[in-house]
Amino acid sequence: MFNALVVNKDDEGKTSAAVEELSLDRLPEGDVTVAVEYSTVNYKDGLCIGPGGGLVRNYPHVPGIDFAGTVEASDDDRYKPGDKVVLTGWRVGEAHWGGYSQKARVKADWLVPLPKGLDTRAAMAVGTAGFTAMLSVMALEDHGLKGGPVLVTGAAGGVGSVAVAILSALGHEVAGVTGRPETADYLTSLGATQIVAREEINETVKRPLEGETWGGCVDAVGGEMLARVLGQMQYGASVAAVGLAGGANLPATVIPFLLRGVNLLGIDSVMQPYDNRLRAWERIAKDLPMDKLETMIQPATLSDLPALGKDILKGQVKGRVVVDVNA
Ligand code: NDP
Repeated sequence: MFNALVVNKDDEGKTSAAVEELSLDRLPEGDVTVAVEYSTVNYKDGLCIGPGGGLVRNYPHVPGIDFAGTVEASDDDRYKPGDKVVLTGWRVGEAHWGGYSQKARVKADWLVPLPKGLDTRAAMAVGTAGFTAMLSVMALEDHGLKGGPVLVTGAAGGVGSVAVAILSALGHEVAGVTGRPETADYLTSLGATQIVAREEINETVKRPLEGETWGGCVDAVGGEMLARVLGQMQYGASVAAVGLAGGANLPATVIPFLLRGVNLLGIDSVMQPYDNRLRAWERIAKDLPMDKLETMIQPATLSDLPALGKDILKGQVKGRVVVDVNA
């Protein structure tokens, strides 16, 4: 028997989430059974735990879009009992039972062996948000970062915090945009050299082109913020578009692309091929300072999740929530 956070849907379509004890035969099909140690709270998890079920495709459902743990049983030659593994993406926690559980059963193809230098807790302090931050940094590097400061929007959130820490560790000047001025010291401790108030970007004069300020950008916010940032990029600079915490509509013009050669790079962490995932996790182990990662962590247990799901949708979570599923 094991514990998991289960989301149920009643006949009227109302969803509710609670910790339940389940037997192993309830786990979905897969080649590898994992004793989960840690999971995290991402924006998508907030949607899946919350009313209406968000992205959930089947009920009852166990959310948790990422996890790290130890292989317990495996029908696949690549993994054997005792191996440490990490999972992000592949619609786990949406269409397939996820990490808010002491056990998970998944396809071997979805897993990555934990790289040297990361334990399961550190891997989930990074989690999907941090993995996506690293994919964003790699995409900016591939397109050539310009000389000016790199802007990170939604800086105090999960993707933003890890992006600030990685970019700073790589020697870039980093400007963090936040709507929470009280997080300035936290962002500075992660390596931000400049704190930009959310209104400074959103409420500037709304011209299609403004001063050439940023040498690159990791954008976790989308919407009006992304539209404004596009017009502030240096000539030929790139924006890695990660999220939509500030809205899905993009009220922009084509002018920054035509007159400044700005690149808008879409980042998707869900369907990344194995080699890319492995490369990103190895870069995380090498380039993300573990002491900074430690300062981002907010610990949680399975029973804390319904409340934390609400907080993340309101943009009230700072850094990374690490869920100890055995606590
Ligand atoms: P968080 O909630 O941890 O961070 C989002 C941050 O955005 C908040 O902390 C806040 O930062 C800022 N924010 C929130 N609401 C608004 C608003 N209305 N206007 C402006 N800024 C706002 O979420 P994550 O960092 O985990 O995820 C960020 C986004 O990235 C989400 O949309 C998520 O779905 C997406 N994502 C996409 C992935 C992909 O594969 N493409 C993978 C992972 C996440 P502050 O308080 O500093 O202003």
